[in-house]
Amino acid sequence: MQITEIYKSLQGESTFAGLPCVFVRLTGCNLRCAWCDSEYTFTGGRRMASDDIFREVVRLSPEGGLVEITGGEPLLQEREVVPFMQRLLGAGYTVLIETSGERPLVHVPESVVKIVDVKCPHSGEADTFDLQNLQALLPRDEVKFVISDRTDYEFARDFVTRHGLANKVNAVLFSPAFRKDANGTRDASHCLIDPQDLAEWMLADGVPARLGLQMHKFIWDPAMKGV
Ligand code: SF4
Repeated sequence: MQITEIYKSLQGESTFAGLPCVFVRLTGCNLRCAWCDSEYTFTGGRRMASDDIFREVVRLSPEGGLVEITGGEPLLQEREVVPFMQRLLGAGYTVLIETSGERPLVHVPESVVKIVDVKCPHSGEADTFDLQNLQALLPRDEVKFVISDRTDYEFARDFVTRHGLANKVNAVLFSPAFRKDANGTRDASHCLIDPQDLAEWMLADGVPARLGLQMHKFIWDPAMKGV
């Protein structure tokens, strides 16, 4: 697989937020979200054999625990990443995959937790989510919306309602978008939308979702990579 980085940190998002996690970040993405903080994954990386990646995961987390397969868009390397996730599951790891849902999800092993990042209008990549993937969502999965303004919020709220997402998956997550040039201070001033506004809209509308802040951007400098 083409790999940008492998590292251990705290999981910053999802219902697993705050837990130690090994991140396997694959190179390459077919989208170009306006607020992307992972542009360094678009090119480069290094070719690594599955055995070497597995050894590195075990070295970083010999005790087991969480492994997140992310990118970029990891399912661009589906042919190799699917057997790799099966191997991790077989070794007792809890495996998460973060994907945009633009690629088919049907081949992701059922025991893997899919964290699907449905793109909102101001990402610049709206309507890239493949609606057929709604059939592949399982009760352990999570669906995330990164929100930068009221239009994005209304899109997310209506998508959740229209597709009954709250009854389909373990969690629906609404997360304020971060400025991609954020650095220095570790506070909400870098969010493109004030988390307080988002929280109040969610409460007013009774949205069956949880507000998620990208925890790692409040712990470390938001410009830091590998955390
Ligand atoms: S899908 Fe993820 S990695 Fe790709 S451009 Fe969007 S935010 Fe960046």
